[in-house]
Amino acid sequence: MNTARKARWAVRQSALPTVVKPCLSCTGTRHRPSGKFRVNASGKLLDVWLLLNCALCDRTSKVPVHERTHVSSLDPARLVAYESNARAAVGEWAMSASLAAKNGYRLDWTGTWRLQAEAGLDIPHVLDASAPLTVSVRFELPAPVRVERLLMIGLGTSRTEVRRMVADGRIRLPSAPGAKTHRDFEFRIERDGAVDVAGHPTVPVARSEPRKRSSPGRVAVFGVRPRVLSPAP
Ligand SMILES: [Zn+2]
Repeated sequence: MNTARKARWAVRQSALPTVVKPCLSCTGTRHRPSGKFRVNASGKLLDVWLLLNCALCDRTSKVPVHERTHVSSLDPARLVAYESNARAAVGEWAMSASLAAKNGYRLDWTGTWRLQAEAGLDIPHVLDASAPLTVSVRFELPAPVRVERLLMIGLGTSRTEVRRMVADGRIRLPSAPGAKTHRDFEFRIERDGAVDVAGHPTVPVARSEPRKRSSPGRVAVFGVRPRVLSPAP
């Protein structure tokens, strides 16, 4: 019988990233896209800028998107998007890591995304110990997010618990839990006890008890660390 279950999570966009660069008028460094482009035509050559506003003094600054570009080399639909300040085009350039690198500014992705369940299960997902679960995570925006942060939200648990489950082999990730990613990935949550070859449950070891060395094989093979719990009050 196949008891494997699947769920899909999506990292959805809730805001555009903040552009971090010095303002020429004040001490502020944080800029928001104004939602507009400026297009300048000089004969057959075009300049297109993305306009930003300083969050502190509101001064407008511009980031070159196309410089001295021949009008024939630009898709007509693109030009319409720039001239009409199309939201999608603003978003695309405001989130562009290559535009940021080219113009020497940093993008702050704080508060730009939220994790949402697409299919299968709710968020936070309460772990069902009886069946393995495969979760695919899809990114709607290129926000670099720590893998463990997604798991903490998605599973409603702490960083310590996520790291423990990864170390125990209960959660199988394609990268280290502390690594940042903005690309789609899949991870698997094993059945509780699936990591124990001998079939023994992974019993918490109370601090007051002497540590038993009854299953060294499990420790060696899977890197399972005994959980240490505080004695009951
Ligand atoms: Zn300013």
